[in-house]
Amino acid sequence: MKHLFGPVNSRRLGISLGIDLVPFKTCSLNCVYCECGKTSKLTTSPAEFASTDEVIAELRMYLDSLPRLDAITFSGSGEPTLHSGIGRIIDVIKDEFPGYTVVVLTNGTLLWREAVRRSLLRADIIVPSLDAVSEDAFKKIARPAPGVTAKRLMDGLVGLRDEFAGKLLLEIFIVPGVNDTDAELRLLAEACGRIRPERVQINSLDRPGAEKWVEPLSAEGLERIKGFFQGFAVDIIGKPGTRGDMELARKKSDLTMAVTATIERRPSTIDDLCRALGASAGEVETVIAGLSSKGLLEVNELRRGTFYSIKKRD
Ligand code: SF4
Repeated sequence: MKHLFGPVNSRRLGISLGIDLVPFKTCSLNCVYCECGKTSKLTTSPAEFASTDEVIAELRMYLDSLPRLDAITFSGSGEPTLHSGIGRIIDVIKDEFPGYTVVVLTNGTLLWREAVRRSLLRADIIVPSLDAVSEDAFKKIARPAPGVTAKRLMDGLVGLRDEFAGKLLLEIFIVPGVNDTDAELRLLAEACGRIRPERVQINSLDRPGAEKWVEPLSAEGLERIKGFFQGFAVDIIGKPGTRGDMELARKKSDLTMAVTATIERRPSTIDDLCRALGASAGEVETVIAGLSSKGLLEVNELRRGTFYSIKKRD
């Protein structure tokens, strides 16, 4: 499978099959905290980066056996709404496999375009990001492509809320020293009042990001921030679930592929991989040792543990 990955046990979405529509790493932003690393293709131009027919064929093959999944999630190595066929792919899932929940993780920067909003309207859940409202903080965190502004992002999010009947979960990623001032947090809370998300999800670094200076936030810091969003349903994004149902969704023989597909997209500890893939520490360690012996791994020591990722080719 070229365009599908997982399923992984997502901390927010349960057992989730990923669809990756853009090549590594194609995005309209180059966020300082991005766990996929630096953006190599910074663009706002939509294109059919992967053949839409090929993605649909893969999906049909995978979903025909009706695997047990909680969600099918558009995410991966960049911004999925840059793919011009995303609307058609969502339509196929909703028409042919209506039992599945379709989720789109997006940075929201293209939503000011009506055609992009329209292409997502049949999704069940959209998880857009809004990390800053002031242009200064937005630029520092997101390092956007030319033409992308915090104002346009806001306009797109408000437009989406007016048109989208599904659930909107707004993610705010806190970068200490940039968007955790009282003034910025007040602006973000006001923005939430206009966007009216079902939930506000506060996130902060818990694995290596694109820039080493980005620090994680303490539990107390996150609690302080939560205080600015009173009146909204707020989640502090927690840890993934544990082993269990994942074994139903994925055969053990797929473990090497599943580990590779996961750490190609996000650096992970052994513990993260055990939780995400429903495997034991021994099983994951064996796969990691195999990848390491082939020289495929990049290893980073952080406060939370040892993170493994697949070395990027330039
Ligand atoms: S975090 Fe998301 S929006 Fe930001 S650079 Fe990475 S893929 Fe793009």
